[in-house]
Parts: sequence; C-alpha cells; structure tokens
Amino acid sequence: PSIFKSRESLSPEYIPGQLPHRDKELKALASYFKHLVTTPGSISQRVLITGRIGTGKTALAKVFGRDFTRLAAEKGYKVRYAHVNCHRNRSLYNVIADIGRQLDVPVPPRGLSSKEMYDLILNHLDERDEYAVITLDEFHYFANISGPDAVYFIVRTYDAEELFRRLNFIFIAIDPVKLGFLDPTTEGYLLRHLVKLNPYTSQQLFDILKYRAGESMYEGSYDDEVLKFIADFEGWDKGGGGNARHALEILHVAGSSAEAEGRSRITIEDVRKAIMSTSREILTVSEAIRDSPIHELLILLSIVKLLRKTGRSELKMGEVEDEYNAVCEFYGEVPRKHTQVYEYVMNLSRAGIIQARSSGKGQRGRSTLITLPYGPLDVLERYLDELIRKKIQ
Ligand code: ADP
Repeated sequence: PSIFKSRESLSPEYIPGQLPHRDKELKALASYFKHLVTTPGSISQRVLITGRIGTGKTALAKVFGRDFTRLAAEKGYKVRYAHVNCHRNRSLYNVIADIGRQLDVPVPPRGLSSKEMYDLILNHLDERDEYAVITLDEFHYFANISGPDAVYFIVRTYDAEELFRRLNFIFIAIDPVKLGFLDPTTEGYLLRHLVKLNPYTSQQLFDILKYRAGESMYEGSYDDEVLKFIADFEGWDKGGGGNARHALEILHVAGSSAEAEGRSRITIEDVRKAIMSTSREILTVSEAIRDSPIHELLILLSIVKLLRKTGRSELKMGEVEDEYNAVCEFYGEVPRKHTQVYEYVMNLSRAGIIQARSSGKGQRGRSTLITLPYGPLDVLERYLDELIRKKIQ
C-alpha cells in the first residue's frame, strides 16, 4: 500500500505549477514589471512583498519569475530571474556574489569588493543586452544583520544611473513593521509598490491542499473530509495561522504515518496526530534555522539538551559552551573558538530563535543568560539531531 506518488512535490522547496488564490497578486507583479516586455531600460522597478510565514511569498516570487521570464522570451526579450535567500547569504558581499552566480557572471579569482562585484554584474547584463529581476528573500533578515548602509546600497545607491536599470528588485519581508528601523525615505521607497499577502482562509487552504494533494498523492488515499479538517484547523478565519506551509506539512506527516502503518488511506486520526506533532513553534523555528550553518545548529542543540537535562529555565553562556564542546565531539565536529560561539549565539538571538540577556553584575562579573521560550524540548531535540545529521553527510 502506498500513499505518495511524489513526495518531493510536497517539500517546501518545490515550486508548484500554479498558485490557487494568488492570481490577483501574480497579476499585480506582472503589471509592476510590465516595462521589461514593453520598454526595457525605462525604469528600475522595486516591489516589496510582505506577509506572514506560509502565505506564499517565496512561491509567489518564484512562480512569477518562472512564468515571466518565459513570457518575455516568447516576446523576444531577454529577462533573467534570480532568487537570493538573504538568510543563507548573510552579508552584502555574499548576496551580490550569489546574484552574480545565478546570472552566470564569470567572477575573477581575485577578491572583489561588493561594489566591484555589482559593477561586474551590471556590465555583464549590458554586454548581453539582458535585464534581470532579482528577488531578495528574507530581506528583513539581511536588513537586521547587514545594517542600513547595506540596505541603502542595494535599494538606492545606483538610483540615478542608467546602467542600473538592467536590474529590478523584488524584496520579501515578513512584515512591514519590521522594516521600521530603516530611514524613513528608504522605507517609504520600499513601501511604494507593495504586494501584501493575507493569511489564507480555510476555504482557500482547502483548495490549495486539494491541488497539492492531487500532485503528490494517489487518488483515493485522501478525501475531502481529511483536507477540510486540516483547512479548518489552519484557516485564518477559523482562528488558525492561515499558513499554507503548516497545512501542507500536516498533510505530509499524516500521509507518512498512514503509509508507515501499511495503510493506503489517510484517516482523521492520522491528521489529529500530525497536528499534535507539528506544533506551530517547531515549524516556525525549523523554518528559521533551515539554512543555518552547522555550528549554529550544534549550539542550539546544546542549549536544548542542557535545558532538558537541568530542568532550569535559563542557562549561562559558559555551561552552553561546555555542552557544545561535548556535542561537537559526539558528531565528530571540531568546536569553534569562544568568540565565534558567542557570535553564533548572538545570531540565534537576533533571529528570535533563542533569548539572550546580560545577567547584570554577579559575583563573577557579567554573564550572558540564554533561554528558549517555547517547546516541547524533546521534539526540538529530535528535529535538530535529524537536521544536523542530514547536513553533516
Ligand atoms: P512564505 O514564503 O510566505 O513563508 P512559501 O511561499 O514558502 O511561504 O509557501 C509555503 C508553502 O506553501 C510552500 O510549499 C508553497 O509551495 C505552498 N503554497 C503557498 N501558497 C500556495 C498556493 N497559493 N498554492 C499552492 N501552494 C502554495
């Protein structure tokens, strides 16, 4: 007995053929970038997509990029699309280098500055008479880590130059409120062309689940009742998060457990269990750490293990480091030095995955206190262990 005909098409990386209930937003993007297939080079467009997790921001940009470049090619225009994850890249230079890589710009072996790299990309496009739409995904993260100067560089530095019109941008951010630390002009600039994605209602999620189930599961292995149960649990209008990723994950887990028990049909009970094991916090965290460097994950795992072992609510930096050294040994990894460990802890804290605060003056000076405001820890520990093993091999 089998449930899945294509498990991959349920994975978060998979780009679906269509996006039910995002027609209006796709049309809005097409209209913002229309100049690329009528009067390319007339402007450099910048559009901001915002919405909560799982509202389809990434999928929207990727589907748009895929369909729009095809349409442009049919009309005889050369438009390229690059999708850069700012969380994965972490610095202005890495972001720009990734754009270059995706646009097939040959990079000389000697080190380049961000600006030199940028110019290389612009000249490359100019020589080939190509235009590009660049999506900077998780832009709020980039803004947080790299600071206002880097944002300014990307968003506005080249405003006046004609060559720059070869590049057009889509910025993706969790919520416009989080951009509040930008200078008001840059923020105003970014908010001028806004595509805001609302959380999905239960009816919308039902349609999305139905479409995605049809692609990934055999007919007869699920029914409308199962899909409706998930949609009602997660639907925004029913008090859920309106998060399509969560809804799809529940379906995926429910299907897996039915399959593991040798059944060829998903039951409501499978769904109930799947909902239990995919708590919202875990999903949010798993999303946030998907691209974290391995040692950041090892540190997070150390924190989780130690919180479980001690039963305390807060940990000292020193203890976490000791646990981290032991955890590294277990996985056969060489531990990083103190300053680097501290840097990782601060990254985790900035990303909201852990909370770190200074203890104030104690008997032996200041120390950093670390805690996790969510759980359950055993599920987190299992999740981290799996993720780390996957990344190590
Ligand atoms: P976000 O970037 O807002 O966190 P994603 O674009 O990653 O959300 O979407 C989460 C998951 O839900 C992905 O697997 C995506 O393919 C799927 N998804 C989101 N919206 C739709 C939709 N309208 N139709 C089909 N699948 C969707």
